[in-house]
Amino acid sequence: MDDGQFFYHPLENIEDTEDFYAAINREHLTKSLSDERPYTYWTIELYDQTNGIRGGGGLGILAADTRRVAEQMGVPFTLVTPFYPYEPHQKLENGHVVDEHIPVDYHKFGFHFVDTVNIKCCGNLCKLDVIEKKFNSTRILAITEPNFGELYSGLSGGDHRLYQEVSLGFGGYAALKLLGLKPAIMQLNEVATFFAALARLDELASNGMDFYEAVVYTRKHTLYTNHTLVQAAEAEFSYDQFERFVFPNLKSPAVRKWLADKFVNHHIKLSSVTIEIAELRSGVSKLHARVANYRDIAGNKVKFKAVTNGIDLEKWVVPEILEFYKRSEILDKFGLPTDDYIEKLEILNALKIKEFKKLGREILNQVLSTRPDQNGQILHFSDDDFIFDFKRRFVDYKRPELPFSDPKRLKSILEKRGAHYILAGRVHTGDHNMAGKLKKLLEAVGNDDYLRTHVHYIADYDEKLAFGLSAGANVAVNVPIVGLEACGTSWMKDIANLNLLISTHDGGVADASADSYLNVNGTDESEEIEALYDRMEEALDIYDNDFDLEYVVRKQLAAYLPVISGPRMLKDYLAFLFKA
Ligand SMILES: *Cc1c(COP(=O)(O)O)cnc(C)c1O
Repeated sequence: MDDGQFFYHPLENIEDTEDFYAAINREHLTKSLSDERPYTYWTIELYDQTNGIRGGGGLGILAADTRRVAEQMGVPFTLVTPFYPYEPHQKLENGHVVDEHIPVDYHKFGFHFVDTVNIKCCGNLCKLDVIEKKFNSTRILAITEPNFGELYSGLSGGDHRLYQEVSLGFGGYAALKLLGLKPAIMQLNEVATFFAALARLDELASNGMDFYEAVVYTRKHTLYTNHTLVQAAEAEFSYDQFERFVFPNLKSPAVRKWLADKFVNHHIKLSSVTIEIAELRSGVSKLHARVANYRDIAGNKVKFKAVTNGIDLEKWVVPEILEFYKRSEILDKFGLPTDDYIEKLEILNALKIKEFKKLGREILNQVLSTRPDQNGQILHFSDDDFIFDFKRRFVDYKRPELPFSDPKRLKSILEKRGAHYILAGRVHTGDHNMAGKLKKLLEAVGNDDYLRTHVHYIADYDEKLAFGLSAGANVAVNVPIVGLEACGTSWMKDIANLNLLISTHDGGVADASADSYLNVNGTDESEEIEALYDRMEEALDIYDNDFDLEYVVRKQLAAYLPVISGPRMLKDYLAFLFKA
């Protein structure tokens, strides 16, 4: 594995965090947050290859970007996560996706060993290593041990998952104490991190605080960030599993009883207790916060505050484009859109867009130079080649196969310009349905002479490929079934890097109106497929007309730059968590 230096663009030196707090009208934060009382962020998944941690998808990317933005703004921030000793990779063999497991050594990525902490499981003491890596005002605090396993290994309601989650929660909380840190706030990135808040409640209640006061205190300082839509789909744990992994770690009998009372028919969903322990709750886009269907134990519908995900611009935007945004006062020194950024966007003309895309194409070619397509071909594109891409996890609801519904039509569109279509995305281990769909899709492509040389699947989708494609493609295709995408962030990388976006109106895309990009809609799937092909043709035409190209690219940026900006996301979280 290489160092991932590729991504790192030195940050502009933000002299004074107080400047940022003032810019977002949160002057009082200087008192609320300090090195000893950081914002703490808990996540079972982190996707940060530069630091040796590879995740599975958007949840982990978001965690890494959130920490990076906090670092850029000088905000005291501690991210607590497991370090998995093995990471999953994928390759393609005769159209079959094959998983590989590669060991990783944290020493190679600048982590240092702090000490060990113990948790109890199945009648034994389990020793966990605490490791740390600091980045200015932020750090990654990780817990690990040689048999910790891989991210998402085993069944989601299984013992090993529970062991990993309990280790993160109780082990991670003990690790904070080891470093003398008290969390100003605990943000739980999904329910797998529930046990961190439970560990805090237990500490307060067993150290003499009245139990109800301890509950109130923990609730007020805990934010549950939900990324899922349907509670019903969540796996459950049994009382028996909790007796082996959870209850032995609790010191307070009152907390034990509180937790035991939350079981329904000897089973528990972590979302139901996370809702109980976190008074603050957020969803990851406007639409998602509105439609996420969750109930508390009393049966009341849970309200989620919308804080739409953003991305770390320093990491995901071609450096020259980001510099242009800042120099043209489209973004301010913090990466927040300026008051008049829409007028300022007018200097972005077709000539500039095409120049920037040339730079992006070099980045893409570099990434592709080590990653052959399904035919073993190393791809290299000229500035004039036209590239559509689809890059995201291969899961059913994202519909990677949609553009292949009518291969003849797809072919006729690509032929107009000799255009290429690049697919990249991980198939979830054990997802035979999607592995089968990919195989079928590649067979159909392989049976046609034209498609075989113009449709490319690149295996082992990761951050580098995501960045390369955002930087170097022309048009991104994003067609989740409406209502099923929580937010999505890859489309943000595309818009920020001046690509055209073809998308259904879902997730964070639906934060702005449907005429802000090349919208795919329809009352059923066959109408959506027609619309998708029409939009692909439209995208080709837009590139042939400078006026249209400027118009659409500017319109996308006008609508979405405030959404995309990671500093905007951090600002929204800080405003929600620390209401003056
Ligand atoms: C940006 C990114 C994601 C997020 O993808 P969405 O499907 O848009 O949520 C996932 N994986 C990688 C490697 C990424 O870079």
